[in-house]
Amino acid sequence: MQDKRESGQNFNNDADVKVEENQPNDKNSNQFRPQRRPYYNRRRKYYHKPDQRPIQKEKFFNKISVVIPLFDEEESIIPLANELRKALRPLETSYEIIFVDDGSTDKSLQNIKEVCRTDKRFKFISFKKNYGKSAALQVGFKQATGDVVVTMDADLQDDPSEISNLLAKLNEGYDLVSGWKKIRHDPIIKRYSSRFFNLVTRLISGIKIHDFNCGLKVYRKEVVENIKVYGELHRYLPVFAFWQGYKVSEVIVKHHSRRYGKSKFGISRFFKGFIDLITVIFTTRYIQRPMHLFGFFGAFSFFLGIIVNGYLTYLWVTGGYLSNRPMLFLGILLIIVGVQFFSVGLLGEMFVHNARSEKEYIIKEKG
Ligand code: UDP
Ligand code: MG
Repeated sequence: MQDKRESGQNFNNDADVKVEENQPNDKNSNQFRPQRRPYYNRRRKYYHKPDQRPIQKEKFFNKISVVIPLFDEEESIIPLANELRKALRPLETSYEIIFVDDGSTDKSLQNIKEVCRTDKRFKFISFKKNYGKSAALQVGFKQATGDVVVTMDADLQDDPSEISNLLAKLNEGYDLVSGWKKIRHDPIIKRYSSRFFNLVTRLISGIKIHDFNCGLKVYRKEVVENIKVYGELHRYLPVFAFWQGYKVSEVIVKHHSRRYGKSKFGISRFFKGFIDLITVIFTTRYIQRPMHLFGFFGAFSFFLGIIVNGYLTYLWVTGGYLSNRPMLFLGILLIIVGVQFFSVGLLGEMFVHNARSEKEYIIKEKG
C-alpha cells in the first residue's frame, strides 16, 4: 500500500494519526489546537505531540472596543499600542482602541495622535482639563461602537494579553467580567487598604468578586449603555451593573508594577471611596424607594423617643420630677430626628414619583 504520508495527502485524514483528537467541533467548548502542522519523522517513526495549550482565538464578538482613560502617561502610550496590537491580532475580530486623554499636560496627546495617524483602528478624545477617570470612561463608553467594551489603564500595569481570557469568561454567559489582580505590584499600603476596601464592598454589595477597582474589565455594550459613572464612582461599576440585574464575574489577571510616572490616586481615595459607597448603595438599592431607608430609621428613632418620654411622663404623672432627668432631652431628640428622617423619606418619594420614567427599567425582551 502506498504510504499516504509519502503521497502528500492530508495527514489529518489518516486513521493512525490522531493529532486533532482534542480539537472540538463546537466553538464554545474548551478549545485546543495543534501548535504546528503534524510532523512525521521517518527515521525515528513518530509524530510530534499536539499542543495542549488553550486556544487564544476569540470570535464570539463582532467588534471589540477598548477604552483607555489616561492622564499624563506619555511614555506608556507607544509601548501600550504595540502590546495591544499584538494581543488583539490573534482574536481575529475587528477592533477599535479609544484613548481618552483626561486633560494631560505632558506629551500624551502628541503621542496618541502619532499612534492614531499610523493606525486607523486607534481613535482619541481629548478633554480640555482633567475631569477624572470616571468622566473619561463615561465619554469613552459613549464613543464605543463594538458589541463588547474592554477598559484598561494606560500605565502598562494591566496586561493586554489577558483580554482574551476575560472575553472567554464573558462568553460563558456573563455581562461584566472584572480582572482580579491577585498578585499585585503596588506599594504595600495600597495593597492592604485596597484589600479592606474590597472586603467591605463585597460584604455590603453582596457581589462575590475580589477586586472592584481593577482597570481591566470587559462589558457587553448593553451594560455600558445602561450605567452612568461620574465623580469617582468608576470603582463601583460592577456594583451598578449587578444592581441593575447584570451577571458579574471575575478572572485572575497578571499585574505589573508601574513602569513610568506615578500613581494618580493617593491614599485619600480610600476615604473618598467609602463615602462613595454610601452614594452607591443609595443610588442602586434605594433610589426607587427612599422611604424604605429613611422611613425605617425615622420610625425607629421616633418610637424609641416615644418610649423614653412615655416612661418619663408616667413618672411625672405618678408624682416624680423631670427637672433632673437628662433622659428627657434624649427622648425629645429621638422624636425630632425620627420625624426629620421620615420627612426626608417622604420628600424623596415625591421626587421619585414625579421623576419616574420607563427608561430606568432595563427591558430584557419584548414580544
Ligand atoms: N487616570 C485618568 N484620570 C485621572 C487619574 C487617572 O484618566 O484623573 C488614568 C491613569 O492615567 C491610568 C488609570 O486612570 O491610565 C489608572 O490610574 P493610576 O494608574 O494612577 O491608578 P492606580 O493604578 O494607582 O490605581
Ligand atoms: Mg496604575
